[in-house]
Amino acid sequence: MNLAFISDVHGNIEALGSVMEEIRKDKAEKIFSIGDIVGYGPNPNECINALKDDADIIVAGNHDYAAVGMTDITDFNDYAKAAIQWTESVLSEENKAFLKELPLSSSIKKSGMLLVHASPKDPLEWEYVTNAGEADANFSFFSEKACFIGHTHTPAIIELSPEGKINFFRNGSEIKDGHRYIIDVGSVGQPRDGNPEAAYALYSGGAVEIKRVPYDILLTQKKMREAGLPSYLIERLSEGR
Ligand code: ZN
Repeated sequence: MNLAFISDVHGNIEALGSVMEEIRKDKAEKIFSIGDIVGYGPNPNECINALKDDADIIVAGNHDYAAVGMTDITDFNDYAKAAIQWTESVLSEENKAFLKELPLSSSIKKSGMLLVHASPKDPLEWEYVTNAGEADANFSFFSEKACFIGHTHTPAIIELSPEGKINFFRNGSEIKDGHRYIIDVGSVGQPRDGNPEAAYALYSGGAVEIKRVPYDILLTQKKMREAGLPSYLIERLSEGR
């Protein structure tokens, strides 16, 4: 059974459209969205509408909650704040209500999977899991075999061996018996690992693969300019940083 995991779409409908096309070719039976549908990009309503139709489970990200006043944005940098204020001003009432209802996490018991945007340890703190120490601090906070996350915009498959050793893989990994995993699926709409192509994860039983998909970055940037979004946010899409 193929399962697709996407995160951090951030209002980028061109990236989302290209990823969904690829997911259809993957013949994924289910699509899970792990937070931050909105924020940064120019098409928040379109991205919510598309995922309402296509995603089987959607959990909340910090930008989703921030856009509806449900999380504190004092920690956001000025660019993120400006984008959240713009997003709030264009979101439909229906989509605001939809974001407010999103759960912080979702457990798929029969597959042994947990979905949570930032960290299983304390989902509302929006902590980053980027190194072995941070991963180690999180494995005891979920009982499923694998926890799928986003938030860092940098894909990573973090493996905990039965002996307690932590291994990192960037592009894909076998899913081994007796091992446990934290899988950061990367970002569809604003990758930050130096590769500007949209990222998502495809799970197919024994393995997980991080897939990359080119999309029309110039069109997204044009729309962002027309919306008056900060130029730093526009330029970073070209470099994937
Ligand atoms: Zn994000």
